[in-house]
Amino acid sequence: MTGFWALYSDDKFKKIKSIEDEFKHYKIYFRLENAHLIFINVRKFGKFRIMDLDEINLRPSIAKLGPDILETPFNTAEFIKRLRRRKKEIGKALLDSSIVAGCGNIYKSEALFRAGINPFRTCDSLKNNEMKIIAEKLSEVALEALANKGSTLKDFKHVDGYSGLMQNRFKVYDRADKECTACNSRIIAEKQGDRTSFYCAKCQN
Ligand SMILES: [Zn+2]
Repeated sequence: MTGFWALYSDDKFKKIKSIEDEFKHYKIYFRLENAHLIFINVRKFGKFRIMDLDEINLRPSIAKLGPDILETPFNTAEFIKRLRRRKKEIGKALLDSSIVAGCGNIYKSEALFRAGINPFRTCDSLKNNEMKIIAEKLSEVALEALANKGSTLKDFKHVDGYSGLMQNRFKVYDRADKECTACNSRIIAEKQGDRTSFYCAKCQN
């Protein structure tokens, strides 16, 4: 997930100079009755389409999506079904929307740290309870981030341009060579596919 929505009240919106000033990479702006909804697309990976509800669920690209990271409760059984026996590394699998939808590099790195799982493990090496813990931590990280962004949009500029107070909670993401908060080892930043995975080699096995 590289795009995000910002919802501003009228009052809050009045305080900003302009949308361009507040969000350099904004793409779409909706004027709502009492609010302003802005879609920000920092890395330009995000897509936006308006569709009929019936049509949406029939679209192959939607039908093939894995369970949504923000669904409560998260659909762990479906997640495990899609993960199981894959040869893919878990750090790559979590960015594959046919396995889980809505997980970006930040959530992936943080959830795997909390779960104690090395991002370079292949899915078929994961035990059932390890997959369950990953599911639980993914959901936890995503809901925490949502809660933080919701309350701190004003202070929202940091990692990749935008982040919110969540960045203060990062244990591994964007912390290359810094000390692990759990064991003091150095956090590793390693290329994985076309992305970078951040992890602690001692805490994550
Ligand atoms: Zn550690």
